[in-house]
Amino acid sequence: MNITIYGTRGSYPSPSDRGRSFYTDKYGGHTTSLLVEPQGDELIHVDLGSGSTQAGIDLINRGTYSKEGKEHTVLITHFHADHTEGTPYLKPLYDPRNTFHIHGNADPRVVEELLGTRQNKAYFPVAYQAVSTGDAVPFMMAKKIHYSLNGKRISKSVDITFEQTNHPGGCVAYKFNENGKIFAFSGDHEFGVQSIDDTLRDFYKNSQIILHDCQYLPEERNPAQYGLKGVPKAGWGHADFKQLVDFMLKVQPEVLILTHHDPEHDDKFIDEMHAKAQEYALVVGLESKIVMATPGMKLRL
Ligand SMILES: [Zn+2]
Ligand SMILES: [Zn+2]
Repeated sequence: MNITIYGTRGSYPSPSDRGRSFYTDKYGGHTTSLLVEPQGDELIHVDLGSGSTQAGIDLINRGTYSKEGKEHTVLITHFHADHTEGTPYLKPLYDPRNTFHIHGNADPRVVEELLGTRQNKAYFPVAYQAVSTGDAVPFMMAKKIHYSLNGKRISKSVDITFEQTNHPGGCVAYKFNENGKIFAFSGDHEFGVQSIDDTLRDFYKNSQIILHDCQYLPEERNPAQYGLKGVPKAGWGHADFKQLVDFMLKVQPEVLILTHHDPEHDDKFIDEMHAKAQEYALVVGLESKIVMATPGMKLRL
């Protein structure tokens, strides 16, 4: 199984800004998107944040398309903008030869409606699906079939399971198991609800690589606890590195990758956060290799 990370950012895209010496070239400015490719030729997009724009371009440049087109699988963790805003720009969705099997944690009609609303003509010139109301509105011509997560087709070639996370509006984590090689992606998650954390701990067991939300420093979630001022981010649905490291003590994946970088954190900040997370892991005994997600990062299992 090959995994490529295309979008690493949470909340909103965050490009480098030379004028204020704010650089994000290393850790990326695009929002959440991955491409999972099991053995065989299945393409699985996980979330369609702004990073998925490049995934679509890469697939076209790679010459992935035959005359018959291609089947794509899409798994959405939840419908917040930073996980779906790349949908209107995903070029393979414009090719009528392609078929997309799109899964979300909702009724299939709701999955379709939530993605389609983003392309209401008030927001975007090209509709998600053909519009039947007289006006000739251009639309994305790939065939799209929508599924709830308990519906049938997720993947033909890899065992994919999911579990609920703790995030406002709901979200899920996905786990990909290909013959015992296991990769898991958390989606957005804030630790602290015991029953959910316990379930997720069991869910992640035996994963070799875990890609996990880690948007904050502990003092950003709870500034008062550290004698600081500022808006507490606790309750916003994201993890800090201490919570994450503590949680992973009973999971001990070989590699733990931190993602969903805060848009206000530049490369220097994220480098420092990496060092702090490694230091804390050493103190408490987490043996996993800790890595910060970068765009274009390729994982192989
Ligand atoms: Zn998010
Ligand atoms: Zn979210």
